[in-house]
Amino acid sequence: MDFTRANDLIEKVEKSLKEIAEFNRTEELLVGVDLGTAYIVLVVLDKNMNPIASEMQFAQVIRDGLVVDYIGASRIVRELKEKLEKRLGKELLKAAIAVPPGTSERDSKTHKYVVEGAGMEVTAILDEPTAANAVLGIENGVIVDIGGGTTGLSILKKGEVIYTADEATGGTHLSLVISGNYKITFEEAEKIKKDKKRQREIFTVVRPVVQKMATIVKNHIEGYDVEDIYLVGGTCCLEKIEEVFEKEIGIRTTKPKNPFLVTPLGIAMNC
Ligand code: ATP
Repeated sequence: MDFTRANDLIEKVEKSLKEIAEFNRTEELLVGVDLGTAYIVLVVLDKNMNPIASEMQFAQVIRDGLVVDYIGASRIVRELKEKLEKRLGKELLKAAIAVPPGTSERDSKTHKYVVEGAGMEVTAILDEPTAANAVLGIENGVIVDIGGGTTGLSILKKGEVIYTADEATGGTHLSLVISGNYKITFEEAEKIKKDKKRQREIFTVVRPVVQKMATIVKNHIEGYDVEDIYLVGGTCCLEKIEEVFEKEIGIRTTKPKNPFLVTPLGIAMNC
Protein backbone atom coordinates (compact mmCIF):
# COMPACT_ATOMS: atom_id res chain seq x y z
CA MET A 1 0.00 0.00 0.00
CA ASP A 2 1.31 3.41 -0.95
CA PHE A 3 0.47 5.88 1.81
CA THR A 4 2.09 8.86 0.00
CA ARG A 5 -1.15 10.80 -0.58
CA ALA A 6 -2.56 9.92 2.85
CA ASN A 7 0.68 10.85 4.62
CA ASP A 8 0.90 14.13 2.76
CA LEU A 9 -2.66 15.06 3.83
CA ILE A 10 -2.05 13.92 7.42
CA GLU A 11 1.09 16.04 7.62
CA LYS A 12 -0.96 19.03 6.51
CA VAL A 13 -3.55 18.35 9.25
CA GLU A 14 -0.74 18.14 11.83
CA LYS A 15 0.54 21.50 10.62
CA SER A 16 -2.97 22.97 10.65
CA LEU A 17 -3.21 22.32 14.41
CA LYS A 18 -0.57 25.02 14.83
CA GLU A 19 -0.98 27.36 11.87
CA ILE A 20 -3.61 28.21 9.30
CA ALA A 21 -3.00 27.30 5.67
CA GLU A 22 -3.82 29.78 2.92
CA PHE A 23 -7.40 29.58 1.67
CA ASN A 24 -9.95 31.44 -0.42
CA ARG A 25 -12.04 33.48 2.03
CA THR A 26 -15.08 33.61 -0.24
CA GLU A 27 -15.36 29.80 -0.34
CA GLU A 28 -17.43 27.82 2.14
CA LEU A 29 -15.23 25.51 4.23
CA LEU A 30 -15.75 21.81 5.01
CA VAL A 31 -15.66 20.62 8.61
CA GLY A 32 -15.23 17.15 10.07
CA VAL A 33 -16.21 16.58 13.70
CA ASP A 34 -14.86 13.41 15.33
CA LEU A 35 -16.67 12.86 18.61
CA GLY A 36 -14.50 10.25 20.27
CA THR A 37 -14.33 8.45 23.58
CA ALA A 38 -11.05 10.18 24.33
CA TYR A 39 -10.79 13.16 21.98
CA ILE A 40 -13.02 15.57 20.13
CA VAL A 41 -11.28 16.67 16.94
CA LEU A 42 -12.40 19.27 14.38
CA VAL A 43 -10.67 19.42 10.99
CA VAL A 44 -11.38 22.19 8.46
CA LEU A 45 -10.69 21.74 4.73
CA ASP A 46 -11.18 23.93 1.69
CA LYS A 47 -13.15 22.69 -1.31
CA ASN A 48 -9.99 21.15 -2.81
CA MET A 49 -9.62 18.99 0.31
CA ASN A 50 -6.64 20.96 1.60
CA PRO A 51 -6.41 20.95 5.42
CA ILE A 52 -6.72 24.59 6.59
CA ALA A 53 -7.10 24.50 10.38
CA SER A 54 -7.71 21.93 13.13
CA GLU A 55 -8.42 21.86 16.85
CA MET A 56 -8.70 19.04 19.36
CA GLN A 57 -9.48 18.48 23.02
CA PHE A 58 -9.35 15.55 25.43
CA ALA A 59 -12.91 14.88 26.61
CA GLN A 60 -14.79 12.06 28.28
CA VAL A 61 -18.29 12.83 27.02
CA ILE A 62 -18.68 9.73 24.84
CA ARG A 63 -18.54 6.15 26.06
CA ASP A 64 -18.49 3.07 23.82
CA GLY A 65 -19.49 5.29 20.93
CA LEU A 66 -22.52 6.73 22.77
CA VAL A 67 -22.98 10.31 23.98
CA VAL A 68 -23.04 10.21 27.81
CA ASP A 69 -22.74 13.96 28.42
CA TYR A 70 -24.76 15.77 25.79
CA ILE A 71 -24.33 19.27 27.20
CA GLY A 72 -20.60 18.81 27.80
CA ALA A 73 -20.07 17.41 24.29
CA SER A 74 -21.98 20.25 22.66
CA ARG A 75 -20.13 22.86 24.71
CA ILE A 76 -16.73 21.47 23.70
CA VAL A 77 -17.66 21.29 20.02
CA ARG A 78 -18.91 24.89 20.21
CA GLU A 79 -15.70 26.04 21.92
CA LEU A 80 -13.51 24.31 19.33
CA LYS A 81 -15.66 25.73 16.52
CA GLU A 82 -15.34 29.24 17.97
CA LYS A 83 -11.56 28.85 18.34
CA LEU A 84 -11.34 27.84 14.69
CA GLU A 85 -13.62 30.69 13.58
CA LYS A 86 -11.42 33.14 15.44
CA ARG A 87 -8.28 31.73 13.83
CA LEU A 88 -9.91 31.71 10.38
CA GLY A 89 -11.88 34.96 10.65
CA LYS A 90 -14.76 33.09 9.10
CA GLU A 91 -17.92 31.35 10.29
CA LEU A 92 -18.18 27.57 10.03
CA LEU A 93 -21.67 26.57 8.99
CA LYS A 94 -21.72 22.87 8.18
CA ALA A 95 -20.00 19.69 9.26
CA ALA A 96 -19.89 15.96 8.69
CA ILE A 97 -19.75 13.49 11.58
CA ALA A 98 -19.01 9.80 12.04
CA VAL A 99 -20.14 7.06 14.40
CA PRO A 100 -18.77 3.58 15.10
CA PRO A 101 -20.09 0.90 12.70
CA GLY A 102 -23.40 -0.56 13.83
CA THR A 103 -24.48 2.52 15.83
CA SER A 104 -28.29 2.71 15.90
CA GLU A 105 -30.14 5.49 14.11
CA ARG A 106 -31.26 6.89 17.44
CA ASP A 107 -27.70 7.09 18.80
CA SER A 108 -26.42 8.57 15.53
CA LYS A 109 -29.05 11.28 15.88
CA THR A 110 -27.73 12.17 19.33
CA HIS A 111 -24.27 12.72 17.77
CA LYS A 112 -25.97 14.90 15.15
CA TYR A 113 -27.81 16.96 17.79
CA VAL A 114 -24.52 17.57 19.64
CA VAL A 115 -23.03 19.18 16.55
CA GLU A 116 -26.23 21.03 15.66
CA GLY A 117 -26.40 22.26 19.25
CA ALA A 118 -22.93 23.71 18.68
CA GLY A 119 -24.24 25.70 15.72
CA MET A 120 -23.40 23.69 12.58
CA GLU A 121 -25.67 21.98 10.10
CA VAL A 122 -24.82 18.26 9.78
CA THR A 123 -24.43 17.30 6.12
CA ALA A 124 -23.37 13.66 6.48
CA ILE A 125 -23.20 10.86 9.07
CA LEU A 126 -20.59 8.23 8.18
CA ASP A 127 -19.29 5.15 9.88
CA GLU A 128 -15.75 5.67 11.16
CA PRO A 129 -13.80 3.15 9.04
CA THR A 130 -15.57 4.41 5.90
CA ALA A 131 -14.49 7.94 6.82
CA ALA A 132 -10.93 6.67 7.27
CA ASN A 133 -11.05 5.14 3.80
CA ALA A 134 -11.68 8.55 2.24
CA VAL A 135 -8.06 9.21 3.22
CA LEU A 136 -6.57 5.77 2.57
CA GLY A 137 -8.47 4.91 -0.63
CA ILE A 138 -8.34 1.16 -0.10
CA GLU A 139 -10.02 -1.22 -2.55
CA ASN A 140 -9.43 -4.53 -0.75
CA GLY A 141 -8.53 -5.37 2.83
CA VAL A 142 -9.70 -4.51 6.33
CA ILE A 143 -9.50 -1.12 8.03
CA VAL A 144 -9.19 -1.43 11.80
CA ASP A 145 -9.86 1.79 13.72
CA ILE A 146 -8.63 1.49 17.31
CA GLY A 147 -9.76 4.54 19.24
CA GLY A 148 -10.09 5.20 22.97
CA GLY A 149 -13.08 3.05 23.86
CA THR A 150 -13.96 1.28 20.64
CA THR A 151 -12.35 -0.75 17.90
CA GLY A 152 -14.24 -0.62 14.62
CA LEU A 153 -13.47 -2.64 11.56
CA SER A 154 -14.61 -2.61 7.94
CA ILE A 155 -13.78 -5.25 5.36
CA LEU A 156 -13.58 -3.87 1.83
CA LYS A 157 -13.87 -5.78 -1.43
CA LYS A 158 -13.43 -3.86 -4.69
CA GLY A 159 -13.96 -0.60 -2.81
CA GLU A 160 -17.26 -1.75 -1.27
CA VAL A 161 -17.74 -2.30 2.48
CA ILE A 162 -18.91 -5.92 2.82
CA TYR A 163 -18.67 -6.33 6.62
CA THR A 164 -18.44 -4.03 9.64
CA ALA A 165 -18.09 -4.65 13.35
CA ASP A 166 -17.46 -2.71 16.52
CA GLU A 167 -15.96 -3.92 19.79
CA ALA A 168 -15.71 -2.17 23.16
CA THR A 169 -11.93 -2.18 23.42
CA GLY A 170 -9.31 0.50 22.77
CA GLY A 171 -6.61 2.73 24.16
CA THR A 172 -8.52 3.40 27.39
CA HIS A 173 -7.97 -0.25 28.32
CA LEU A 174 -4.25 0.07 27.67
CA SER A 175 -4.10 3.10 29.95
CA LEU A 176 -6.02 1.25 32.67
CA VAL A 177 -3.51 -1.62 32.49
CA ILE A 178 -0.57 0.82 32.67
CA SER A 179 -2.22 2.63 35.57
CA GLY A 180 -2.68 -0.67 37.46
CA ASN A 181 0.86 -1.91 36.76
CA TYR A 182 2.67 1.27 37.69
CA LYS A 183 0.18 2.20 40.45
CA ILE A 184 -0.38 5.64 38.92
CA THR A 185 -3.50 7.60 37.95
CA PHE A 186 -5.24 7.07 34.63
CA GLU A 187 -4.16 10.55 33.50
CA GLU A 188 -0.50 9.78 34.24
CA ALA A 189 -0.83 6.47 32.41
CA GLU A 190 -2.24 8.27 29.35
CA LYS A 191 0.75 10.60 29.39
CA ILE A 192 3.32 7.79 29.63
CA LYS A 193 1.55 5.82 26.91
CA LYS A 194 1.82 8.73 24.47
CA ASP A 195 5.43 9.53 25.33
CA LYS A 196 7.50 8.21 22.44
CA LYS A 197 10.52 7.74 24.68
CA ARG A 198 8.63 5.38 26.99
CA GLN A 199 6.66 3.38 24.42
CA ARG A 200 9.19 0.53 24.26
CA GLU A 201 9.07 0.17 28.04
CA ILE A 202 5.28 0.22 28.32
CA PHE A 203 4.84 -2.09 25.36
CA THR A 204 5.85 -5.08 27.46
CA VAL A 205 3.01 -4.20 29.86
CA VAL A 206 0.32 -3.62 27.22
CA ARG A 207 1.37 -6.35 24.75
CA PRO A 208 -1.18 -8.93 26.06
CA VAL A 209 -4.03 -6.41 25.59
CA VAL A 210 -2.82 -5.60 22.08
CA GLN A 211 -2.60 -9.35 21.34
CA LYS A 212 -6.20 -9.70 22.56
CA MET A 213 -7.28 -6.86 20.24
CA ALA A 214 -5.60 -8.67 17.36
CA THR A 215 -7.39 -11.90 18.26
CA ILE A 216 -10.72 -10.06 18.25
CA VAL A 217 -9.97 -8.71 14.76
CA LYS A 218 -8.79 -12.16 13.63
CA ASN A 219 -12.11 -13.72 14.70
CA HIS A 220 -14.10 -11.10 12.79
CA ILE A 221 -12.22 -11.49 9.53
CA GLU A 222 -12.14 -15.29 9.58
CA GLY A 223 -13.84 -16.66 6.49
CA TYR A 224 -13.16 -13.49 4.49
CA ASP A 225 -10.41 -13.36 1.91
CA VAL A 226 -8.36 -10.56 3.55
CA GLU A 227 -4.80 -9.93 2.35
CA ASP A 228 -4.08 -6.63 4.10
CA ILE A 229 -4.87 -5.01 7.43
CA TYR A 230 -4.68 -1.22 7.71
CA LEU A 231 -4.51 0.30 11.18
CA VAL A 232 -5.91 3.74 12.03
CA GLY A 233 -7.12 5.49 15.23
CA GLY A 234 -5.10 7.06 18.03
CA THR A 235 -4.12 3.78 19.67
CA CYS A 236 -2.35 2.72 16.48
CA CYS A 237 0.20 5.51 17.07
CA LEU A 238 1.79 2.96 19.42
CA GLU A 239 5.12 1.95 17.99
CA LYS A 240 5.19 -1.65 16.71
CA ILE A 241 1.46 -2.30 17.19
CA GLU A 242 1.34 -3.32 13.52
CA GLU A 243 4.01 -5.97 14.17
CA VAL A 244 1.91 -7.56 16.94
CA PHE A 245 -1.14 -7.65 14.66
CA GLU A 246 0.83 -9.15 11.79
CA LYS A 247 2.32 -11.83 14.04
CA GLU A 248 -0.98 -12.73 15.74
CA ILE A 249 -3.15 -12.75 12.63
CA GLY A 250 -0.60 -13.76 9.99
CA ILE A 251 -1.75 -11.05 7.56
CA ARG A 252 0.37 -8.11 6.34
CA THR A 253 -0.42 -5.10 8.56
CA THR A 254 0.52 -1.49 7.85
CA LYS A 255 -0.44 1.99 9.06
CA PRO A 256 -0.10 5.54 7.75
CA LYS A 257 1.73 8.37 9.48
CA ASN A 258 -0.11 9.57 12.59
CA PRO A 259 -3.12 7.21 12.48
CA PHE A 260 -4.84 9.44 15.07
CA LEU A 261 -5.72 12.06 12.46
CA VAL A 262 -6.98 9.78 9.67
CA THR A 263 -10.63 9.46 10.70
CA PRO A 264 -11.23 13.17 11.54
CA LEU A 265 -9.67 14.11 8.18
CA GLY A 266 -11.78 11.54 6.33
CA ILE A 267 -14.93 12.85 8.03
CA ALA A 268 -14.18 16.39 6.82
CA MET A 269 -13.59 15.07 3.28
CA ASN A 270 -17.21 13.86 3.26
CA CYS A 271 -18.74 17.15 4.42
P1 ATP B 1 -13.40 6.09 19.89
O1 ATP B 1 -12.99 5.87 18.45
O2 ATP B 1 -13.24 4.89 20.74
O3 ATP B 1 -14.73 6.74 20.04
P2 ATP B 1 -11.61 8.34 19.89
O4 ATP B 1 -12.25 8.80 18.61
O5 ATP B 1 -11.40 9.36 20.94
O6 ATP B 1 -12.37 7.12 20.52
P3 ATP B 1 -9.00 8.28 18.80
O7 ATP B 1 -9.01 9.76 18.90
O8 ATP B 1 -8.82 7.66 17.47
O9 ATP B 1 -10.27 7.66 19.49
O10 ATP B 1 -7.87 7.69 19.76
C1 ATP B 1 -7.83 8.00 21.11
C2 ATP B 1 -6.97 6.97 21.82
O11 ATP B 1 -5.68 6.97 21.21
C3 ATP B 1 -6.77 7.29 23.29
O12 ATP B 1 -6.85 6.09 24.04
C4 ATP B 1 -5.35 7.86 23.34
O13 ATP B 1 -4.72 7.61 24.57
C5 ATP B 1 -4.69 7.07 22.22
N1 ATP B 1 -3.52 7.77 21.67
C6 ATP B 1 -3.48 9.00 21.13
N2 ATP B 1 -2.22 9.33 20.74
C7 ATP B 1 -1.47 8.25 21.07
C8 ATP B 1 -0.07 7.95 20.95
N3 ATP B 1 0.78 8.82 20.43
N4 ATP B 1 0.36 6.74 21.37
C9 ATP B 1 -0.49 5.85 21.91
N5 ATP B 1 -1.82 6.06 22.06
C10 ATP B 1 -2.29 7.24 21.65
